[in-house]
Amino acid sequence: MYQSYEIKILHMETTSKCNATCPMCLRAVSGGAINPQLPITELSLTDVQKALSESFVRQLNKVYMCGNYGDPAAASESLEIFEWLRNVHPEIQLEIFSNGGLRSPSYWSKMAKVVDRAVFAIDGLEDTNHLYRKGVVWHKVEENVKAFLAAGGVARWDYIVFRHNEHQVEYARTLAEMWGIQKFQVKKTGRFFSNTKSARKDEQVVMNRDGEVEYTIQMPRGEKYINSALKTEKAKQSQIKEAAPVSFTKEGQVYKPSKKKSSIAAPSTSGGSLETVSEEPQQKEEPVAVKPAASAKPLVDYIEKAPIDCKVAAEKSVYLTAEGFALPCCWLAIRMYPWYSKPKTGELWKMFETLERGLDSLNAIERGIENVVQSEFFQSRLPNSWEKPSYQEGKLFTCSKTCGRKDFDLFNSQFVN
Ligand code: SF4
Ligand code: SF4
Repeated sequence: MYQSYEIKILHMETTSKCNATCPMCLRAVSGGAINPQLPITELSLTDVQKALSESFVRQLNKVYMCGNYGDPAAASESLEIFEWLRNVHPEIQLEIFSNGGLRSPSYWSKMAKVVDRAVFAIDGLEDTNHLYRKGVVWHKVEENVKAFLAAGGVARWDYIVFRHNEHQVEYARTLAEMWGIQKFQVKKTGRFFSNTKSARKDEQVVMNRDGEVEYTIQMPRGEKYINSALKTEKAKQSQIKEAAPVSFTKEGQVYKPSKKKSSIAAPSTSGGSLETVSEEPQQKEEPVAVKPAASAKPLVDYIEKAPIDCKVAAEKSVYLTAEGFALPCCWLAIRMYPWYSKPKTGELWKMFETLERGLDSLNAIERGIENVVQSEFFQSRLPNSWEKPSYQEGKLFTCSKTCGRKDFDLFNSQFVN
């Protein structure tokens, strides 16, 4: 796909820790209990110095900290890692993505001095942000963002639009201007797509730590805020009502939730607050299979036949996980620990098993990221899979879904205005 000397961009996940449990983030089970499969860990400065040689850092144009399972501000040494990168390569572009609710104003003032830009994920205003950014406290976000800007930082505000916050988009845009944020980015999330059913869904249940449903969040009503990939005919045909919420065991077997009184909150007709309505108790525990919805077959087939145009091969970027494994991208890496599958199963783990040293082959802390990129996984195993005609023969569904059909690009469609 590329040679290590060609890499220009590094995407780092410095930690799997976070102050939040967003309902569509795999670090938690639908916004409730922490994903039992997830290793809770972080990269230290020493780990990063082992993974990245100074000559590798000097060849890069950009390093950004974002990740799949955690917020970079939750890692102990993200700031020190950025400072080291800046020291090694003064012209490098550095960027951090955060929910903004972690740490103190003084931390964000220091961050402003070292990064070129911070992207704050704020999905609403004081009365709505926490409905998706569950656990994030508004006043912390406000004081941190203001401290970052006051110290000379450049920021972007990313705003995912849902039904419960779509009436606030223009207020938020104005607030962003008043605060001095450089760019306000409306995001049309592609996450109203069930990975267990391979189908479009219009709502997402939100659970508490005991596995009880607290409320649901919905796709926005405004067509202009809906991800265009989810508006394609094939996606619409595959549509499911959000499946019954599922819970889990430590062994990763999936169950319907136990009989518990639960409640669902629906947006009120005015404003962004939620009102609670009761729901019938769920059925008793029984195992459920994770498999595509019958209606999703045309979509799954359509995606399968697409030629793969690997996004990160084109932009020459590589991903480092909080455990120190190098993978091409976050989209593959997130398939490592989905809470709804049995641990270490699925297409990616199957591919790891074919490597001489299994997952250890991808350990950049032990081997150095350049050696990992030059190894079997990057140089043959993965790119060869793109040429396979079917999933059966080894094509990865994740690659087909992410980098296949141009009219079903859930990622890029998020940013199209
Ligand atoms: S803030 Fe980011 S890492 Fe934290 S739970 Fe939400 S999406 Fe996941
Ligand atoms: S999902 Fe597959 S094809 Fe797409 S960027 Fe990642 S490795 Fe490349």
